[in-house]
Amino acid sequence: MTIYFDNSATTPVDPRVAEAMAPWHSAAFGNPSSLHALGRAAREAVEAAREQVAALIGAKAKEIVFVASGTEADNLALAGAFRASPSDRDGVIVSAIEHPAVLETAKALRSQGAALTLAPVDSDGLADTDWFRRHVSATTRIVSLMAANNVIGTVQPFAEVAAIARQAGALFHTDAVQAAGRIPLDVRAAPIDLLSISAHKLHGPKGVGALYVRDGVALAPIIHGGGQERGLRSATENVAGIVGFGWAAELAREQGAADNVRLVALRERLIEGVFAACPQAYVIGHRHRRLPGHVALAFSGQEGEAIRLMLALDEAGVAASTGSACSASHADEPSYVLRALGFDPFRARGALRLTLGRFNTEAEVDRVVSVLPGLVGGLRRIATARR
Ligand code: PLP
Repeated sequence: MTIYFDNSATTPVDPRVAEAMAPWHSAAFGNPSSLHALGRAAREAVEAAREQVAALIGAKAKEIVFVASGTEADNLALAGAFRASPSDRDGVIVSAIEHPAVLETAKALRSQGAALTLAPVDSDGLADTDWFRRHVSATTRIVSLMAANNVIGTVQPFAEVAAIARQAGALFHTDAVQAAGRIPLDVRAAPIDLLSISAHKLHGPKGVGALYVRDGVALAPIIHGGGQERGLRSATENVAGIVGFGWAAELAREQGAADNVRLVALRERLIEGVFAACPQAYVIGHRHRRLPGHVALAFSGQEGEAIRLMLALDEAGVAASTGSACSASHADEPSYVLRALGFDPFRARGALRLTLGRFNTEAEVDRVVSVLPGLVGGLRRIATARR
């Protein structure tokens, strides 16, 4: 049995979620826009899921727009807000370590007149609130800072930066794709205008996400058509996916706090176990201010071997990654996230990402702690022999 330590790439669907989705793949196949009984049942299911997703983040149901992915939520947030209304504010500020769904959208907005500024991070990957205080101004239209980073796990001071954006009259978006269901999020506690979530990171299905749009925030759609989702996301709704998302959110709300305590303990057991066996190991990202189950490691002098280490773990039955799933095709190249932390190009190839989730156990952590040092040592011997 594979030990699955790649929960930041995606999570296994919780069996309770799969069970809730099943009827919507078969007998209950109505289109939520249809007026007959099958359609009305589908509409009710979508609206119930909207309540469940809203409850996870303290939002109102009408503030949730269902979309097809976290990527689409990020696109709709940035491009939709930028295009919504003409404004003399052309500034777009996003952090240098955002997921490409935010970074590439922000770059694409340049062709529509956006003046893009990338906010730096420190060597732990933390954004600097003072930097935002100095740079968010009367010309800033939108600020986007992720709640937690997918590569290094660092949790950002997004609530503080949201307050800075609000004070300057700018909109604030946070990509909470990695954070939702893993750390508490409450849109009533901070002036967050837009927030992205993706179901498959919280034990829900792939291909469904949501954008929270604070009541009163104007957005322009990026997909045009029949006007579903208040005109913000035309297309027949993915009913089964949305139902699954709703239950995944509900389960995360119910057991998120307990999951988190358990995951922090597993994470620390993993880190301390690796440290004890491999003196050259170090953690990438903030040592404590990180997602509960997120471990990003490197081995001093062997950073260029991260991909080989990941493949050796795979052979040993452990699914891990070297950064993010999206960059798997560039897995051997320096990571722009690690470069932004100040790593040189050699060290920037060095993240081994082990991310734990609801279904991982202490025995699995102990197994990885027992096999990893041998694999690291083996690679070191090969590298030495090559020299
Ligand atoms: N944002 C972050 C921080 C992510 O980690 C991911 C996926 O890895 C996404 C956005 C994209 O989400 P999706 O896979 O649902 O498109």
